[in-house]
Amino acid sequence: MEMGASLVKTSIVQPLRWLGRVLLDQIYPPLCLSCDRPVATADAICADCFKALRPITAPLCPVLGLPFAVSLGPEARSAEAIADPPPFDRARSAVVYNDVARALVGKLKYGDRPELARFCARLMAQSGHELIAEDAVLVPVPLHRRRQFSRRYNQSTELARALSRLTGLPVDPQLVRRHKNTRQQVGLSGDARKRNVASAFEPHAEALLRLKGRRVIIIDDVITTGSTIKAVTRALKSGGADRIDVLSFARVVTGTDA
Ligand SMILES: [Zn+2]
Repeated sequence: MEMGASLVKTSIVQPLRWLGRVLLDQIYPPLCLSCDRPVATADAICADCFKALRPITAPLCPVLGLPFAVSLGPEARSAEAIADPPPFDRARSAVVYNDVARALVGKLKYGDRPELARFCARLMAQSGHELIAEDAVLVPVPLHRRRQFSRRYNQSTELARALSRLTGLPVDPQLVRRHKNTRQQVGLSGDARKRNVASAFEPHAEALLRLKGRRVIIIDDVITTGSTIKAVTRALKSGGADRIDVLSFARVVTGTDA
């Protein structure tokens, strides 16, 4: 009885939803997620913005995921990874942090375009394909609860949820907590950033139990100097995690024209 009712409901609701979307597209044509120009389909960016995005592809450093100008062989690590080995295993990012990426991340942060997380997650799934293993759990970089409250939105959690829908991997936003309300990282130098976040995170008291030996993929919107993801990695390691990768939408790459 109940099942029949829900079937009827679905069969009416689906076409109505489709019709609603068609009508809405007439009144409000879908806009480019980056520059707000009209585009043919929702959930996308215009051809000009797409061309301006710089995907990070091979050859790249197998540890930090930084792009190389020329291939130096599959095992060749970047000078940065050799001079200062990170606590995580591998980091990958979808695109270089340039003007278009900045516009996308800005909108993602303030949650005014929820479909944006889906777009970014599709690119992240491609760039992070080596990291996406069956036993991985997605852990977004947390905001301090006061900042989360005032903003009501954590962009890294939204990216993790969208990625979860694409990959089927679970999300555990409670595995690590930000207990110190750090200053905004914007405008701080590398050393100041490091000091600012070094002790800002702590693992969940039952992190080890919740992990059950699974690999962690830390999810972030932008990697700048890497001090935040290193601090999150160290907190997770102190909680018992031992295999940790990082996947972000964008990444600051010095020496590129963006
Ligand atoms: Zn555009």
